[in-house]
Amino acid sequence: CGIVGYIGKRDVAPLLLEGLARLEYRGYDSAGMVISSPKSAGLKMVKAKGRVRDLEARVPKRFAGTTGIAHTRWATHGAPSDVNSHPHLDPENKVAVVHNGIVDNASELRAKLEADGVVFASETDTEVLTHLIARSQADSLEEKVREALKVVEGTYGIAVMHADFSDRIVVARNGSPVILGIGEKEMLVASDVAALIAHTRQVVTLNDGEMATLKADDFRTYTTEGSRTTATPETVEWEA
Ligand code: GLU
Repeated sequence: CGIVGYIGKRDVAPLLLEGLARLEYRGYDSAGMVISSPKSAGLKMVKAKGRVRDLEARVPKRFAGTTGIAHTRWATHGAPSDVNSHPHLDPENKVAVVHNGIVDNASELRAKLEADGVVFASETDTEVLTHLIARSQADSLEEKVREALKVVEGTYGIAVMHADFSDRIVVARNGSPVILGIGEKEMLVASDVAALIAHTRQVVTLNDGEMATLKADDFRTYTTEGSRTTATPETVEWEA
């Protein structure tokens, strides 16, 4: 339903919670986030069925990070629950995915992965994306995501983090809005401009079939086939 992501220098958890709160009007049944910090290895996750304030109540005291992705879920595959909330991690806690939309061929992909020995943690369609990305042998995160998207049918706005590629967030869009927020030495992403305008008015709206890589001081856009696209930030007018 709703996505917010950030990469920069600021304390990311409060920023993501505030962004999620701005998406509350769209409706949702659960919320969650994954963050990472240059000071500690690995991804840290918190998620909860219920409201953004239920998520906030669960955020551990020490939950420092400067990169993160967050989600409010409107369940389509699997009941609203803690485990079905996004983000979804692979068993090694390397890959985190938040997803808006519906993977149409999820049950077929799930059956194939399970036949290969993959154990699913949730009932969601989204989790197939996590495993596909985690199992890709490609060298770059962009290529791993691209490979996964090749076999996925349906709609998506996704944001992906990977513990081994902690300098970036990779996002992609097909039928679900993804908007980049271009800041000063910080980048944001959201499914709705409402979650961005507290931080920047410079935005890039991805087209269907487009992906982007966000780093703290840089972004680039390209097609799911890998060819670069031009993205000129636009200024959003917004009455606060
Ligand atoms: N299909 C996904 C799920 O049920 C994402 C739903 C959404 O867009 O929030 O978990």
